[in-house]
Amino acid sequence: MNLHGPIPKERYLPYLTTTDIEGLPKADAAVILPVASIEQHGPHLPIVSDTLIGQVLLGRALERAPQNARLWVLPPLVYGKSNEHRAFPGTFTLSASTLSAVIHDIADGVARSGFRRLVLLNSHGGNPGVLSHVARDVREKTGLMVFPLTVFLMGLPDEEHDDDEARWGTHAGEWETSLLLHLAPELVRAERTESLGQLPKMADGIEHLTLRGPVTFAWLSQDVSTTGVMGDPRKSTAERGRGTADLIVEKLTAVLCEMARFQMPIPAGSDQS
Ligand SMILES: [Zn+2]
Repeated sequence: MNLHGPIPKERYLPYLTTTDIEGLPKADAAVILPVASIEQHGPHLPIVSDTLIGQVLLGRALERAPQNARLWVLPPLVYGKSNEHRAFPGTFTLSASTLSAVIHDIADGVARSGFRRLVLLNSHGGNPGVLSHVARDVREKTGLMVFPLTVFLMGLPDEEHDDDEARWGTHAGEWETSLLLHLAPELVRAERTESLGQLPKMADGIEHLTLRGPVTFAWLSQDVSTTGVMGDPRKSTAERGRGTADLIVEKLTAVLCEMARFQMPIPAGSDQS
């Protein structure tokens, strides 16, 4: 029986009973709720890509975590906010309000079970806005310490990408296809990447606005790509994917362990003695 997938089974919370969970030490423990997506990833990657990336990298990070780090994992919330990809078949999206409501309800269960910390571990680019919003509201409502965390937005050093990939490579392009080639090559239709890799062309005179960057615009996939791909998957390699995965796993292990023992700072002005 394996419902835990790549998550170490000794950290999979659903294998415990209510009595077990009641008796767990919780002062320095965190519950991890993975949040991802089921959405189009171009003609060459499966729609489960974001979920797969999140689950496998989390599994690897937890394998490396010290045994005494109290990190518990819930089943993933595999559906996310993917309305940017709705025009393409194979996208199954929740609205922001549905996603928020589901996370609120799960967080309520985490708090009622006696835990104090909840990690919202995200692996889809469309979710961070919702998660940071929900995290603060859950904090206010339940008193939980909540950590919205996106695996590819952890302040890792930028890898070497050319300018085009840095400007446009957000989805099913070089870095993500490389990750899939490393994590699940049997699911990549590599022969279909040959016809991909065209990039959008910004109108003349646009200097400040970019797809990725501090000055941006709201976009839907079809605004920037007819194939659903943003970036150039022809340049992807499993080796590059391994490098990205290793960087993420190393940082994720350290970050999750720190979250499990995190305490709120002492508020300014309260230690004047
Ligand atoms: Zn993706």
